[in-house]
Order: sequence, then structure tokens, then C-alpha cells
Amino acid sequence: MKTDIKRTALNVSTYCNLKCKHCLAFIPYYKDPKHMSYQEAKNILDIYFKVVDSVEHFTVTGGEPLLNVALYDILQEVYKYQHQIIDSVDFVTNGTLEIPENILDLFEMNHNNSKVIISNYGENLSTKTNLIKTALEKRNIKYRISQFSGDSLYFDGWIDFTDHSLKWDTEEKRDKNAQGCLHRTGKYFLINGGGELHCCSRSFWRMKNGIIPKVYGEYVPLTDNTISIEEKRKYLLEMYNKKSSISCAYCVGLRNDIERQYPAQQLEREQ
Ligand code: SF4
Repeated sequence: MKTDIKRTALNVSTYCNLKCKHCLAFIPYYKDPKHMSYQEAKNILDIYFKVVDSVEHFTVTGGEPLLNVALYDILQEVYKYQHQIIDSVDFVTNGTLEIPENILDLFEMNHNNSKVIISNYGENLSTKTNLIKTALEKRNIKYRISQFSGDSLYFDGWIDFTDHSLKWDTEEKRDKNAQGCLHRTGKYFLINGGGELHCCSRSFWRMKNGIIPKVYGEYVPLTDNTISIEEKRKYLLEMYNKKSSISCAYCVGLRNDIERQYPAQQLEREQ
């Protein structure tokens, strides 16, 4: 059975230099933030690309991935699997830090299937957006600016996912709600630093914090060597084909009809 999937994001850091209250990945709420090491990433990618035959978009993200000093080596490793990445290697950054020259070199060398996505949270936060844009344009590297301020398509506001109470008490209701969730229908899978593949960062967070049980088929333990590649492929397909996951029962969903919050509101920093 083939495992051709749409999207997977590799979270290479749970550190961020911003503290967005409504961060989709709950990054400011981590008590134990970590950078993914090169060895960890190498191992995860090796297994992931055995479990997955192809992926349309492979995203490198965080937290803020530019804070991870191993980022260049990790990206180099990702590009080794280009033959299995159909569309592009996407790199997401928050517009607060310039992209180092060696990483720009890497994007330029692989310009046919690379895209940088700059999340622009406005001139007070994403202060380097224009500098990054100029550097990318100079080298003909594809990019997109996701505009989270001002009057634009992306200025719809963010959803508050911090209420983890049970919302849908039957599978039917949970399926129905999840079928309107862009993450569920777009199949945005996520690999976290522990080498687990989840159906979204909300599902990962709820398992990490014991809100929902850890069950194979609701996640894939990529780096668990006691489980065969075939079994991991089976769990992945199970997740891929479900209408909803257990986590969706505790979730409002990334739906167009849910109340929005002002984007990138900053939590107070501890002194
Ligand atoms: S409904 Fe919530 S838990 Fe389910 S896929 Fe969407 S965001 Fe993730």
C-alpha cells in the first residue's frame, strides 16, 4: 500500500523569540522548550521517508527555526530526500531574524523546490520582514509573506485553542466539526522533537499533557525501533484516512465560522 501524503511539518525548535498568546502550537506554554539536534533530525528523517513514499509539501518550522544552531545541517539533510518531496520544501520564519548567508545559499541551490514563508506580524514584531524579502529576491528564492497585520486576506485573526474541554461527545459530532477544520481536511501532519508524527499540533499538545490518551493510529511513534516500518505505515494510513482524531473531540477546529482573536498578541515576558 502506497503512503503518498499531502503535508508534513518538522518542528525543529520549541523555542521562539515571540510569545504569541494564541500560537497554534502552544509554543509560549512549553515548560521544557528544546532545539532538535542534527542527529535527532537525521534519524527522524531517515525513518519518516521509509514510512512515507512521497509528501507534497515538507515544511521546516518551529517555534522559530532560525534559533536552532543546527538548522543548516538539518536543512541539508531534508534536501537529501528531495526525490520524495513532490512540490516543495517550505521554510517558515517569523520575520524577526535575518536568514544567514549559508542557509540562503542552500535555498538558492535548491530554488526549484524551495519556498520561504515569512509570517509578518507587523512592523513592531516582524522587524526584519523587508530585509529578508530583499535578500530572497536578490537570489531568486521563492517566498510568500503571510500577512497577519493590516488589511489583507490573512488578517482574519487567530483562533483560541487553549480551552481543552470536551466539546463533541459522539464520533458523529466530532467528525462533522472536524470536516470543517482546515487542518483536518488539508492533512497538515506534524513531527515533533520526540520523533512522533501527529495529525496536528493540538493533538500533540493534548497527548503530551495527558488530556487525551496516547494511542497508535492517533500518532505514529517514528523513532520507536520496537515497531516495524510496515506497522508505522499502517498507523499513518489509519490516521490519514480518519475523518477526525480523538483530539478533535476537544477542539473547536480551525474553521472559518469560529470567533477570531487579534493575531500575534504577546504574553507578558517574565522578568
Ligand atoms: S479539529 Fe482541532 S484537533 Fe482536529 S485536526 Fe482540527 S485543529 Fe486538529
